[in-house]
Amino acid sequence: MTDTHFGYQTVREEEKAAKVREVFSSVAQKYDVMNDLMSLGLHRAWKAFAIAQSGVRPGQRVLDVAGGTGDLARALAKRVLPASGGDNGGGGSGDRTDNSGSGNSGQVWLTDINGAMLGVGRDRLLDQGFAVPAIQCDAEKLPFPANYFDLVTVAFGLRNMTHKETALAEMCRVIRPGGRLLVLEFSKVWAPLKGPYDLYSFNLLPWLGKKVADDDASYRYLAESIRMHPDQDTLKDMIAGAGFDRVDYFNLAAGVVALHRGFKY
Ligand code: SAM
Repeated sequence: MTDTHFGYQTVREEEKAAKVREVFSSVAQKYDVMNDLMSLGLHRAWKAFAIAQSGVRPGQRVLDVAGGTGDLARALAKRVLPASGGDNGGGGSGDRTDNSGSGNSGQVWLTDINGAMLGVGRDRLLDQGFAVPAIQCDAEKLPFPANYFDLVTVAFGLRNMTHKETALAEMCRVIRPGGRLLVLEFSKVWAPLKGPYDLYSFNLLPWLGKKVADDDASYRYLAESIRMHPDQDTLKDMIAGAGFDRVDYFNLAAGVVALHRGFKY
């Protein structure tokens, strides 16, 4: 029997997924408004930076893992399915010039383990005219064939997974040779900012969670899980260990967040 962490708590490995599920089922309806409030809107810039680094083109196949309420999937759909206004069935442009073997029909798949988060994301995307498939699945067991996607993204999801190496290896499996992985995640903040950042994370964040989502515990978990997550260089090594090459990262907001990038060859 193996232990792992859930925030600062030590739990049995088989208990962690259920605890993470409780967190996201509880916050799903208020997730987007809390994201804007707690980051002062900065999460939008971090996600825009990730999209800018994605290199995706019309007609490619993209998988957003742990996609939750669909921010990245929507931005990716705008790039991959530009002519369709979100029709996943044939919206790719006919003039793609890459040789990925993806055909000329772009695809964006929104996936998440949590039905409540995924439901909010799917409805939001549908309301905005993006009919992307929304699939409930565990990142550690992706229901997709090998060598299928041009790009896999995971934003603020990896930190919550029980077996991060397994999830990264799964992402590597489903990416085609030449394709890329982007991992956007909280990371280790620049040392001089640690004091104020801790003060904010362990006081203001749970207070805001209580006021807005009536849930301080989930936002305390957020602060703790960030501290338990591998730092920039450790995660870089983990991504390389999962089979990716040319792994690098960009620090955003002084390391509050990092975007890791890796390629499959
Ligand atoms: N990617 C979205 C974003 O950036 O706004 C949502 C991020 S949210 C903080 C983390 C998401 O990871 C949740 O929706 C949660 O259900 C999902 N998640 C946690 N463990 C997962 C797993 N093993 N497989 C797939 N999704 C998972």
